[in-house]
Order: sequence, then structure tokens, then C-alpha cells
Amino acid sequence: MNKGKITKVSGPLIEASGLSDANIYDVVEVSKDKLIGEIIEMRGDVASIQVYEETTGIGPGDEVVSTGHPLSVELGPGMLEKMYDGIQRPLEKLQDLAGEFLERGVTSTALDREKTWEFNPTASVSDKVESGDILGEVEETSVITHKIMVPIGISGTIKDIKAGEFTVDETIAIIETEDGDKEVSMLQKWPVRQARPSRRKIDPDEPLITGQRVIDTFFPVAKGGTAAIPGPFGSGKTVVQHQIAKFADADIVIYVGCGERGNEMTDVLNEFPELIDPKTGESIMKRTVLIANTSNMPVAAREASIYTGVTLAEYFRDMGYNVAMMADSTSRWAEALREMSGRLEEMPGDEGFPAYLASRIADFYERAGKVEVLGSRNDIGSLSVIGAVSPPGGDLSEPVTQATLRIVKVFWGLDYDLSYQRHFPAINWLSSYSLYQDKMDKYIDSEVDEEFSKNRKRSMSLLQQESGLQEVVRLVGRDALSDDDKLKLDVTKSIREDYLQQNAFHDVDTYCSLRKQDKMLATILYNYDKSLEALSAGVELEEIEKLPVREKITRLKLISEDDLGNIEEIRSEIDKQIEELIREA
Ligand code: ADP
Repeated sequence: MNKGKITKVSGPLIEASGLSDANIYDVVEVSKDKLIGEIIEMRGDVASIQVYEETTGIGPGDEVVSTGHPLSVELGPGMLEKMYDGIQRPLEKLQDLAGEFLERGVTSTALDREKTWEFNPTASVSDKVESGDILGEVEETSVITHKIMVPIGISGTIKDIKAGEFTVDETIAIIETEDGDKEVSMLQKWPVRQARPSRRKIDPDEPLITGQRVIDTFFPVAKGGTAAIPGPFGSGKTVVQHQIAKFADADIVIYVGCGERGNEMTDVLNEFPELIDPKTGESIMKRTVLIANTSNMPVAAREASIYTGVTLAEYFRDMGYNVAMMADSTSRWAEALREMSGRLEEMPGDEGFPAYLASRIADFYERAGKVEVLGSRNDIGSLSVIGAVSPPGGDLSEPVTQATLRIVKVFWGLDYDLSYQRHFPAINWLSSYSLYQDKMDKYIDSEVDEEFSKNRKRSMSLLQQESGLQEVVRLVGRDALSDDDKLKLDVTKSIREDYLQQNAFHDVDTYCSLRKQDKMLATILYNYDKSLEALSAGVELEEIEKLPVREKITRLKLISEDDLGNIEEIRSEIDKQIEELIREA
């Protein structure tokens, strides 16, 4: 242990001398209150320390003790259903977020030391095991089995392994290694700033299916992929995140809220436990960990919360799960970086952000991925990261958004105008993109319908033509358009209203399977093709626009997943009604 004395306090940044044996990123305890801090710069024996708590009452001369360890999280049964702050201190109640009742300093451990878990071994004595192999299982919640893995860095032969009720730090197995016997418990620690290793990264080739049409069809994110979503206030960012948490086919959800103030987070945190997982009928908290900063934690804690979250996410990925992590918002995190950098008097870059902003953002998103996990079990896990950004004034050219867009592969551009028109989800189909599209097309074409990607491309091309046609309509009026073009505007309106718009609060519409998405889109385009046929056979446009089946197309989205056969019937109605028109013409 290395002790020093505070020489300077500047908000969440303090300077201490006499810490010659300490290292950068060591965790320190500050003053007799044992406030937690982390060394972020060393010059000789002078350390710059970011403190994760209010520094009022702390002054020069107070003692600083280095723990000699980097900032780490505890990993083991008991994390699910929990709410933690940015450095993994448990928040028992929502009120804790307001910070009024929280004591500063370390008050409790991340994982309960008293609670016992029933450990069921799946490995046996004399099995040879390596890092990441599974020793046994714990039913952590009614929906998630927690796999107890051989800690990273240990390999050998199991000498003893016990079934039964254990607390997280009791020994459940003894592994004989080259360096002697190692006692293994269900508790592991891992430094948050270091990515957990895997065997190898695999190209993400499967979609993270969200049940949201505009996302799955047009801007899909892969399992193990990265996406960014900007969130102007009121544009529906929270609803999109809730929908993903509820419906995405991820086993585990890690939600990191690095909001401005505690109460900004309370909305999300109040609502999350109320969300029911449609697959299990239970609260989604059974497979969720929430991380949120309390209002008495300064900016520095926001900076750590992203790493705490991603480390927990990697740990579940290592069990072979598909994990989705949401970070809201990474702009607040970047602002924390800026503030600390400013206090360190570093050379500022663009808009005062440090020059390393882009590389920090890249390092964070690089922890996403689909991987072959450690161990000898050939298992695959994935970690998808969805980061919300909140560009000031909605200006996407600002540094955080730009650095994010350079690294993420999917961009869902929430559009204030669309939300104003109550077009939800307000994801702009002209500015959004997904670089996974080709791979996901391949997947859906082979798993769902070989026509899917063709229909998707055609719909997008029609939507792109629509914006040009609308310009013409604005200038010279709809009458100036040819009937062909008018029909085109009819189909794009249908794609927008009957397909892209999706009501998160409607029992049926809230989730749409890929199979239903495929059938809906195909039907809308089928109607368009048939209408074109009628037009060229001499049928008046007004007649086509009056077809009764059009009403049914507007209600395609309300057909339940069990009744998808009804969509086929709508096709034959289209056939019948169009044939009739052509006969009459
Ligand atoms: P933000 O978090 O961006 O401020 P919200 O997610 O709270 O915005 O959305 C604002 C409002 O927009 C919601 O209360 C809801 O009425 C409406 N809304 C957003 N998305 C949808 C959706 N998919 N379906 C229906 N209504 C939506």
C-alpha cells in the first residue's frame, strides 16, 4: 500500500504527492471518508486522481491510499435484477438515485456476501479444464442460468468440486494447476478498462431481431454489432430503447444510463421493472442489469459507468449468451471526458473535447462483437452495443456524433419532424443506414423468404424516388404528375403508413416477426404491381385508388402472428378486384 497527501482539489479532480509506487489506473481511497478515485495521470510521485464522489470537505493534507488494483467489477450470481451505480455499488432503491440517503465511500459490496446460491456442478473431479470452461450452473433467476466459469488465467485438473448451497465467495472447486492448487469460488473480479478475452472474433452474420419493422427490414443491427441512435428530446428514443430491451432476441440486457442528473434516469429506471418480457411473462429485470449514476456522483463516475456496463456484458457473453447493451447517452460520457481533460489542462481538440475522444469511443465500441468464447466448449456469444448520442441542438456534425458514426455500423436517425407528425418510430429512412444489410439480407433470404431482400431494396428505392416526386408536387402540384407517378406516391404512402409506422403501445403491432414483416411488405408491393397492371390495361387511376382491398392493407399490421395465413387471402382479393376492374375497362 502506498500513501500520499492531497496537494490540490479541483472539483472531481484531485492531485496528491508521495505516491511514487502507484500506477496509472490504480484505485485509491481518498481521505478518512474513503472516497473512491482512480489515478488518471502520474508525473513523478504526483498523481492526478478522478474521484467518483462529491469532494466537498476534502482538502490539501488529507490522506490518499492506493489500493494497488485497477478499477474492477465483481462478477458472479446476483447481478441480474440489480441496479448499480457507475462503479458497481448497489442501489437498493430508486431514492438512492437522488443520493440523499447514500453515504459516501464504500458501504457495501457489489455482490451480496450473505446470500447463498445452489451450485450444480456440470464438470467432475479429474476433468481437465481451461479458462472459460464451465464448472457448473446456478439458476440465478427464473429465466437465466448463470454459468460458473473457470476464471481467466487458470487451467488444470479439477481436484474437488461440490454441489450445494454456497455464498459467492465460498470455494466450490479446487483446480490443480502448474502453480499449485487454486480454490475457485463463484465470484470473479475483472478490471473494467480491459476487454475480457475470447478465442476469436467472428463476423456478425445474424440479425438481432427487434420486431420493429423499420429496424429489422431496413436498418438491421447484427448480433454482436454496433448501432448509434441520436435522441433529440421527444423524438421517441426512450420508446425505441424500451422496445429493444423488451423484444430483441437477446438473452441479457445491460442498460447504462449516464444521464445528466439522477432524476433524468428515474423515468427509465421506473419503467424498466414494469416492462414485461413477452417471451416469459416475467419482468424483463429477470434478465437485465441497470447501471445508473446517482446525482451525488460527479462527472467522473459517468466516465466509469460505460466500462462497468460493458464488462458485465462481456461476462455474460462469455457464458455463451447473446447480450445487448444500451448506453444512454454516450454524449454525457464524452462530456465527462472533456471536463476531466480540461481540469488536467490537456491540449483541447475540437469543441474542447480531448484529442483522444475518437480513440476512446472506438475502444469502447470495439468491445462489441460476436465471439467464440474461451474454453474448450466451442461456444458462441455475442455482445451488441447500442449507443444513444445526444448532439446539442441536434447538430450531427459535432465531434461526439462524428466520432461515433465513424465507428458504428448502424445509424438510426431519429427525426424531430417525423415525431412531430406522429410518424413513429421516427427513424428517418433517408438518412439512416446499416452496413450489415448485405449479410442480414442473406440471412433473411435463406431463413425467411428468398424474395425478402429484393422487396426490401425495391421499397427503399421507391421511398427514395418519393422524396423527389414530393418536391415536384410542392412546386407544381400533384396534377402535374403522370398516373404512374401518382401510383408511385400511393405505394410509398402505403409503405410509410402501413409498414414503417408501428405503434409501440398496440398489443399486436408492438412486435412484428420477420415472417410477418416479409408477408406485409410483399403484399404492399404486390398490390402496387397489380395496380400498375390495371393502369396499363386502361383502368382509371381513381378506380384503382378506390379499391376496397386497400383498406385491408392499412390493417395488415394488426393481423396477429397466429393469423398470418389471412395475408394470403388478401392477395387473392387483390387479384379478384383488379381482374374485375380490367374486365370492366
Ligand atoms: P424521448 O425519449 O426521445 O424524449 P420518448 O421515447 O419518450 O421520447 O417518446 C415521446 C412520445 O412519443 C412517447 O410518449 C409516445 O407518445 C410517442 N412515441 C414514441 N415512439 C412511439 C412508438 N413507436 N409508437 C407510439 N408512440 C410513440
